[in-house]
Amino acid sequence: MKKEINPPKQKQKLPGNEFAMQPEPEIIKENYVGSGKLLGKVAFITGGDSGIGRSAAIHFAREGANIAIVYLKEDKDALETKNLIEKEGRQCLLISGDLKDEKFCKLAIKKCVDEFKGINIVVNNAAIQFPKNELEKITSKQLHTTFETNIYSYFYITTAALPHLKAGDTIINTSSVTAYRGSEHLVDYSSTKGAIVSFTRSLSAMLAKRKIRVNGIAPGPIWTPLIVVSFDNLDEFGKDNPMGRPGQPSEVGPAYVFLASEDSSYISGQFIHINGGELVGA
Ligand code: NAD
Ligand code: MG
Repeated sequence: MKKEINPPKQKQKLPGNEFAMQPEPEIIKENYVGSGKLLGKVAFITGGDSGIGRSAAIHFAREGANIAIVYLKEDKDALETKNLIEKEGRQCLLISGDLKDEKFCKLAIKKCVDEFKGINIVVNNAAIQFPKNELEKITSKQLHTTFETNIYSYFYITTAALPHLKAGDTIINTSSVTAYRGSEHLVDYSSTKGAIVSFTRSLSAMLAKRKIRVNGIAPGPIWTPLIVVSFDNLDEFGKDNPMGRPGQPSEVGPAYVFLASEDSSYISGQFIHINGGELVGA
């Protein structure tokens, strides 16, 4: 079991804000050149306001896609993401609301379809985590909130989006390295991330006939707002892997492009492990 850093002493406030982070996360590498891999596509990204979701959004935009992003209430982060997408010459629709609510999920998909006349790429990525060192400290309220946010919303969004998806379209789910190796501080969160792996594999089998591919990303420690609000002792964050450092969102975004595009046309039901070299099961 890997050593992890401490839960915060203060009661944590979620979600965190990217604009307040020091140092600022790198969202896309300056030398990332788009080549129209997603030209004319529409991507719908939950948690696209910041961190990994923002990185996926900006990479998709540089590859030619228009983007709808869903976020809880971080308007300032979301507006900055919109701004960055527009700088890439693409359009961005911002949708604020609570993904725990199935009705909102349906409405969010409808808004995207109304605005962009369809959806081609669904990225289920929003999540929360409340580290606890003992099982008894995971209240049933926390358990419900974590499962409703991290996995129920993946079902709600995917179910609402599916009627709009056609052959060649893709679904990408964000899981975590904790799904594969566990986490002693994140028992409930890592359980949702394991569920996301099984969800991805099952759905990929279900949708293969429709030629819709379903894959996922399992990040290790990535420098995002979720981390800043989740842990104390941030100096230790991400040191416990072969590369000895946390990753930047810019090191994750390109994998979403790969899984969203024709480049991965013979890949479904799989996860890409972006974690500084930690070897975990398939
Ligand atoms: P982040 O805080 O930047 O993004 C998560 C986003 O989820 C938030 O911005 C928020 O808008 C959204 N969200 C949370 N609850 C919501 C709700 N009820 N309704 C609507 N939106 C809601 O953090 P991130 O690290 O970029 O996280 C993105 C994904 O990456 C998550 O699935 C997370 O589990 C996963 N992940 C992150 C790390 C890491 O080290 N950062 C490691 C493994 C996996
Ligand atoms: Mg955010």
